[in-house]
Amino acid sequence: MPTPMSQLDETGRETRTTLHHFIDGAFQPSLSGETFEDINPATGKVLADVALGTAEETSLAVAAAKKAFEDGPWPRMPLVERCRILRRIGDLILEKKDLLARAETLDTGKPITESLEGDITRSASNFHFFADYAPSLSEDCFTTGPDERHFAFREPLGVVGLITPWNLPLYLATWKIAPCLAMGNTCVLKPAEWTPYTATLLAEITAEAGLPPGVFNVVHGFGANGAGETLTRHPEVKAISFTGETSTGKAIMAAASGTLKKLSFELGGKGATLIFDDARLDEAIPTAVRAAYRNQGQICLAGSRLFVHRSCFDEVLARVVSQVQQIRVGDPLDPQTQMGALVSREHCEKVESYLAIGLAEGQCVIGGKRHAAYPDGYFIEPTVFANLPEHSRLHAEEIFGPVLPVIPFETEDEVIRMVNSTPYGLSASLWSQDVDRCHRVSKGIQAGMVWVNCWFARDLRTPFGGRKMSGIGREGGRYSLDFFSEMKTVSYRYHQ
Ligand code: NAD
Repeated sequence: MPTPMSQLDETGRETRTTLHHFIDGAFQPSLSGETFEDINPATGKVLADVALGTAEETSLAVAAAKKAFEDGPWPRMPLVERCRILRRIGDLILEKKDLLARAETLDTGKPITESLEGDITRSASNFHFFADYAPSLSEDCFTTGPDERHFAFREPLGVVGLITPWNLPLYLATWKIAPCLAMGNTCVLKPAEWTPYTATLLAEITAEAGLPPGVFNVVHGFGANGAGETLTRHPEVKAISFTGETSTGKAIMAAASGTLKKLSFELGGKGATLIFDDARLDEAIPTAVRAAYRNQGQICLAGSRLFVHRSCFDEVLARVVSQVQQIRVGDPLDPQTQMGALVSREHCEKVESYLAIGLAEGQCVIGGKRHAAYPDGYFIEPTVFANLPEHSRLHAEEIFGPVLPVIPFETEDEVIRMVNSTPYGLSASLWSQDVDRCHRVSKGIQAGMVWVNCWFARDLRTPFGGRKMSGIGREGGRYSLDFFSEMKTVSYRYHQ
């Protein structure tokens, strides 16, 4: 069977290809031979036929991961040895970054420069970071007397299920895989059905890097009643790390309750950018535009509402619109393109339904419709709405598209109330030169992350995650390693 990477090489990347599961170190079709179609959202054409994983393939993958955990070398290897292999995976991602970026762009519709400089580069850093960080972490020792010590240390969990979304496919999968494997677990990844490509390529890379068979498995397929749900209900799966929609998180929590698994959820968001009257507008405005439209607005951390102090509202709105006008929407494979296609027809229609609400309720300042130049793909014009009623659904619900409502405010209390008036609590970015105000407002905002005079600044050691309906738990640095391990205390009494 040709490997997925070689197919991508030989076919010039445009020909319809086949993507298989990766179970116990080998690519395999589904037992039934059934497949589903993976569509290139920029053209509407079929990119790949993907093996359709059901309960059977998922159980095979879990069994392979269990065997690798119980009998294989991985959990018994010294941590530094495991991290050497993880580092090698990161190196190989960088070596093959052009192919990986191309596959990510064909699959998602995102601009190639974003795939190359954002998603794929970060995927490599996820492995490099955890390969360096995991061995640097200390373990605790408490002393209760001259002859008594209590050691607390991490042990792996066993087989872990990783379920990932389509908006940052390889980036978010590797953000889970690297710490999961560093801690000595084995895993089964269920990538999003709309974007299965780079997970399959990663499987090939892990084998090349020397990861033992069964340590990392990929099962393709759907969520509810499919491969995803089987993972969440499987008694041998000890934990689920999930990133995706809030409603899916609720379904997973219910399904996992029967087997009482450890759960980590990174869910939806409705981020806000706040521009105060003393903000440095030359920095705040381009960042607010980037925060709203990067990845076609399909980022959980997107600044998908822009609150502007009334004293500078007209100026900021005019400058935002002028910058939005200049966004180059086009062929995602063109390096000049700044905004590509939305991920799928279904998602595009969902975003269009919000455009219809915005057009009926408020003022569409720019955009507001499908992009006429690309009728076969799922392109939407970058859109700005103003004068929406405060309780508009566009202010509260996650649209996950290039749609930005701009909202005026007068006081700190008022803007904090409006920012907090969604079920979500993931992130916000506030712009002001008054450090006391920044402190007050960032304290008042109910979110896991607040950026002050910046957006998307990240240190991978810091906790990443959301409050309210945006998630449970934190990822990043020691928080990831804590999730992917079980603490054990061993108390010693010595005899002199
Ligand atoms: P989704 O919830 O529809 O799907 C995510 C994954 O879950 C897919 O692999 C899907 O097959 C699987 N799934 C669906 N139903 C399932 C079920 N019942 N049981 C098990 N698995 C199931 O999410 P999506 O549409 O792929 O991604 C977009 C969402 O992800 C947005 O809400 C976005 O905000 C969120 N997201 C959050 C973060 C974060 O860090 N908080 C990051 C990226 C994306």
